[in-house]
Amino acid sequence: MSGRIIYLDNNATTPVDPEVRAAMMPYLTDLYGNPSSMYSFAGEVAAGLKRARAQVAALIGAMPEEITFTSCGTESDSTAILSAVRTFPEKRHIITTRVEHPAVKNLCENISLFTGHKYRVTQLKVDDRGMLDLAEYEAALSDDTAVVSVMWANNETGVIFPIAEMARMAKKRGILFHTDAVQAVGKVPIDLAALDVDFLSLSGHKLHAPKGVGVLYVKKGTLFTPFLIGGHQERGRRGGTENVASIVALGKACELAVSHMAQENSRVRALRDRLEEGLLARIPKSILNGDKINRLPNTCNISFEYVEGEAILLHMNREGICASSGSACTSGSLEPSHVLRAMGVPFTAAHGSIRFSLSVYNTEEEIDFVLDTMPPIIASLRKLSPFWKED
Ligand SMILES: *Cc1c(COP(=O)(O)O)cnc(C)c1O
Repeated sequence: MSGRIIYLDNNATTPVDPEVRAAMMPYLTDLYGNPSSMYSFAGEVAAGLKRARAQVAALIGAMPEEITFTSCGTESDSTAILSAVRTFPEKRHIITTRVEHPAVKNLCENISLFTGHKYRVTQLKVDDRGMLDLAEYEAALSDDTAVVSVMWANNETGVIFPIAEMARMAKKRGILFHTDAVQAVGKVPIDLAALDVDFLSLSGHKLHAPKGVGVLYVKKGTLFTPFLIGGHQERGRRGGTENVASIVALGKACELAVSHMAQENSRVRALRDRLEEGLLARIPKSILNGDKINRLPNTCNISFEYVEGEAILLHMNREGICASSGSACTSGSLEPSHVLRAMGVPFTAAHGSIRFSLSVYNTEEEIDFVLDTMPPIIASLRKLSPFWKED
């Protein structure tokens, strides 16, 4: 790959921050000891782990002992939900939403399948802006509910759910509450000390740390059953020798996120709005997907009617612009994403949806290039569409 890249796919993964890379390097070279060993050489490594735990805790308003390091966001999601299910085996109901990441959605569906449908799964509906109905949620909560798992912010649309209120409602009924906050951490303020959230998942590679490291927060006092059973690492909550270099990196990324947060909410938001307003104004029959207000500052999902997202991405790729489409090409089919389908986005629009997700590394100049590049791409593709009629 040569030429410049305009990277607008930060909800898929983010570049590792140079400061993060520098922080982890000693743990890939000189500081190779096992943090569980007794000699002081390994003690330095254990100290790195300890510092990282405090850095992560500080970003989300947690206590260090509430932080368990895992291998990824997916492992954290599985660990939380399976823990709740195993801790209360007599409860056979799970509440989640129709728009969860596959890490939660497929797990809940599999728990039901593998237990011969002994588990009932309620997938809460969303409206056309991607928002939940809290009355439907309240009615779904029951004495049989083992766990509620609702994402903090949606990876495709950026829509933010009212987690504080939903966790409070679960707590009132004595029900465990998990949130997949992989997209929210580092982008919006989170203060777990003030919330009734029992479990929270986050992932390193979505906030400028490397891939393959995550965190599960477990509130102090919440009953917990481990998923990976092995050694005594992570106070018996997750067996396996710690991925120290990546954990140190994640700690550093969390420390940086504290200082980036203000930028996310001013500069990144302004860039996102410039991109979004520019595209909607310059390209006819383009529609914003997701609530305009309750949304991450970095995400914008737009449907360009009568064109295929995959075709748009190919043309964008030629210009060095990286983004995602709302059709699940990964599955080999061109089915529109489950998120857009749940929102009732019509097929003609869902097929041509593109997600742009920004970071603090993007510049105004990049956004202006995209604004100049997109209209001719969409216009040329529409010329090929049998359904497109120019007004
Ligand atoms: C990326 C993502 C995950 C999965 O995290 P991994 O570390 O890649 O396993 C889970 N949930 C959401 C909302 C995500 O965006």
